[in-house]
Amino acid sequence: MFEPVLDKLKEARKIVFVTGAGMSQESGIPTFRGKDGLWRNYDPMKIATIDAFYENPKLVWEWYEDRRRNIVAAQPNPGHNAIAELERYREVVVLTQNIDGLHQRAGSTKVLELHGSIIRIKCTVCSFQDYVVSSFDVLPPICKCGKILRPDVVWFGEPLPQDVWTEAIAYADSCDVMIIAGTSLLVSPANTLPLYAKQNNALLIEINPEDTMMSVDMNLTIRETCSNIIPKLTEIFSKLN
Ligand code: NAD
Repeated sequence: MFEPVLDKLKEARKIVFVTGAGMSQESGIPTFRGKDGLWRNYDPMKIATIDAFYENPKLVWEWYEDRRRNIVAAQPNPGHNAIAELERYREVVVLTQNIDGLHQRAGSTKVLELHGSIIRIKCTVCSFQDYVVSSFDVLPPICKCGKILRPDVVWFGEPLPQDVWTEAIAYADSCDVMIIAGTSLLVSPANTLPLYAKQNNALLIEINPEDTMMSVDMNLTIRETCSNIIPKLTEIFSKLN
């Protein structure tokens, strides 16, 4: 499976993963697009925008509370676990579009959350923020300052946290291998990260059962799921050491 790129893999020191919703699909968290994707049942512009939120904060919160309950109950899958284990053998950074925290729960120590966290809540006005795993009794929840609280996720039309994005580019720019796992690469600017890696002549590997717009730019595409393939990759590195 990795044979065509094995020599380059063996030399690699810095490995960057770019992960998306497909990474957590085998943990029982639906993806956005594709078969059974969340967007099949909801119009994103009615749910995941600041305008939609102010128009109907209760509806948006109800949708997020369902997702929060599902995510809190989910467990990291063998794909998440294998990425965490890879840290024993190589320098590993995870640049994730996921908001579920499963990489961290699997034990990965260097995770940059490009789109925030569904478990973190912040005030729409003051600087309050906190991690909350329990459900709220009343929706929308209200901050001590009297204003509405919101999930600390990046909605459509909102910029990424600038410090996180700058750091993500620096890692993408300097890695030896980039593994793009479980993302449709349709969401900008996260989908530009492989281009930074390519400029640095990094080896690009895609793990996704389906084609993406950037599949043709990859050195290797593996049409398989994350939990089937990433443990095999970690096994290769464990045998090199
Ligand atoms: P997406 O839904 O657009 O695409 C998911 C991709 O994963 C598809 O290309 C699909 O073919 C692939 N896939 C499905 N199952 C897979 C598996 N088991 N292994 C490997 N690949 C698999 O997701 P995206 O590209 O991350 O889209 C962007 C947005 O979705 C992000 O903004 C992200 O915040 C959000 N999102 C996050 C979560 C989460 O945190 N778990 C869940 C849904 C959506």
